[in-house]
Amino acid sequence: MAIPTLEQKSRCQHGTRSRYHSGCRCQPCREANNRYAAGRRLERQAGNANPYISVSGARTHLEVLEGEGMNMRACSEASGIHYSQLYRILRGQQTAIRKQLAQKILVITPPQMSFPRPAQVLPFNPRPA
Ligand SMILES: [Zn+2]
Repeated sequence: MAIPTLEQKSRCQHGTRSRYHSGCRCQPCREANNRYAAGRRLERQAGNANPYISVSGARTHLEVLEGEGMNMRACSEASGIHYSQLYRILRGQQTAIRKQLAQKILVITPPQMSFPRPAQVLPFNPRPA
């Protein structure tokens, strides 16, 4: 089996940080990475370091939302975060996330439901008292 070339490994276009991370060191990719690094440096200097933090708070919030009847696709639509990442957090497959991502998760609220939630539906009683 042949070793995949850089072209085969990366589907990202040249001039992107993703392509740089896949190993491309062409001028447009280096410039894209330098722009990102410069932006991060400015953010850190401005006090917005956005460090990695534990997912525990975000995971607990996702568990609550799931308990409220909201699946990860609905959470994804509400937050703009890809549902596969939300699933990884929910399942404990990801242990650390950026602080800003955690904040985006923590502000997700279930939509106002127009129908009763399962816990609120009274059980059927064939023989009322
Ligand atoms: Zn490139």
